[in-house]
Amino acid sequence: MAASGLYGMDAVIVPVIHAVEWWSSVSAASVAGMSTADTLTVPLGGPALPQERRLVTAIPGPRSQQLLERKAAAVPAGVGHTAPIHAVAAGGGVVVDADGNSLIDLGSGIAVTTVGNSHPAVVAAVAQQAAQFTHTCFMISPYDSYVAVAEALNRLTPGDHEKKTALFNSGAEAVENAVKIARKFTGRPAVVAFDHAYHGRTNLTMGLTAKAMPYKLGFGPFAGEIYRAPLSYPFRDGLSGPDAAARAIAMIEKQIGASQVAAVLIEPIQGEGGFIVPADGFLPALADWCRQNGVVFIADEVQTGFARTGAMFASELFDVVPDLVTTAKGIAAGLPLAAVTGRAEIMDASHAGGLGGTYGGNPIACAAALAAIDVYESDDLAGRARDLGEVLVARLEALRAADARIGDVRGRGAMIAAEFVDPATGAPDATLAAAVAKASIAEGVIVLTCGTYGNVIRFLPPLSIPDTLVHEAFDVIGAALAAN
Ligand SMILES: *Cc1c(COP(=O)(O)O)cnc(C)c1O
Repeated sequence: MAASGLYGMDAVIVPVIHAVEWWSSVSAASVAGMSTADTLTVPLGGPALPQERRLVTAIPGPRSQQLLERKAAAVPAGVGHTAPIHAVAAGGGVVVDADGNSLIDLGSGIAVTTVGNSHPAVVAAVAQQAAQFTHTCFMISPYDSYVAVAEALNRLTPGDHEKKTALFNSGAEAVENAVKIARKFTGRPAVVAFDHAYHGRTNLTMGLTAKAMPYKLGFGPFAGEIYRAPLSYPFRDGLSGPDAAARAIAMIEKQIGASQVAAVLIEPIQGEGGFIVPADGFLPALADWCRQNGVVFIADEVQTGFARTGAMFASELFDVVPDLVTTAKGIAAGLPLAAVTGRAEIMDASHAGGLGGTYGGNPIACAAALAAIDVYESDDLAGRARDLGEVLVARLEALRAADARIGDVRGRGAMIAAEFVDPATGAPDATLAAAVAKASIAEGVIVLTCGTYGNVIRFLPPLSIPDTLVHEAFDVIGAALAAN
């Protein structure tokens, strides 16, 4: 396809996505005698990939094993992995490995490829932008796509007040900057985060994150003026939303003092912490308290954002309008991009040169984001997330009805989790969650665990997955549960 060019000529050629001939050549090559120099015929990713679970070797197969050996030798052990495969293509609802196995994807690379891997519109936008220019540094020579992403986020995030957006590279960097911006605006030091929170792996965001293992242990010292408040966790605390908020607010007022608090930072539905949905009324009560006390209310929507929960942003589900919203993961279909969006007067409190970074709002990532945002809106992916969520919940509730070791099924839209427990005591059962996840992956279904106690399996399928694959995945998961 030729794009009409900026310079009065055809500027770039973008790839045409098409079905490709399949695995015969690859499987033949994968049988024996592979070296790292082996060439591998791989299919293109994207929606044209056959939407099927297909196991042609054990997981991991020989090519994957070979990559994992190279990984172990070249990459530090601290960088772990969940599925022991060597990915070569992905799209729709599957990830294909180098051995020719096709696995059902219920993780979306941690809620990133929500529009589907290698979505044709994203691929085309990336190719076109890469051919025009790859980088100028927005702080040196601004360009259109950054501003267009800012305009889109200002329009799409909750609330109709005047907003501004700054772009960064990762969720952690967005959270760091939201804290910077809130401190500069308020002139106050303290930041309140919550039990079970996850905000990233940089020094400040490790400090904001609740869970020591694996995120913090041995990596300190951490930044000061971070305080942790109790969350609303209905399955475990039984408190109403207003009561849980009153408990958190009392702690903040007694242990910090409202006048010292720059920001309250919270994930509207916790991600890594276990897909914990707060009781109704919890978030609005916190937001009200922030408003009354001049505290910046920051919603960390890095995992919940972009249609994942059945709304464009999860804050909408709880009727809260955050002062600042941090986004990343689903924003650009896999390209590294993150944002802080918020009230113009808060965002503008920082002096010129105080915010930014070399790569923040990279033009290729911005092009991908604009294409992805267009897909979210024109394909009503929030509606798709709600429909998919009904399938996920129905299948999990059926498993729960038959097996009391599933203590809770929760979440919103296509962000759903099951919490595994000892049925007699309700104690977290991380061993069972890990065994079910491992057995599912071995049978060609990629699932992720999470939770402070490690006893939660989370489901974050790409919204491009066909329902038939979701059903097949739950047949596999059900069998894995029965066998463990
Ligand atoms: C993943 C995540 C982060 C960190 O994002 P990175 O891009 O990995 O730095 C921050 N907050 C939440 C809620 C997340 O899920």
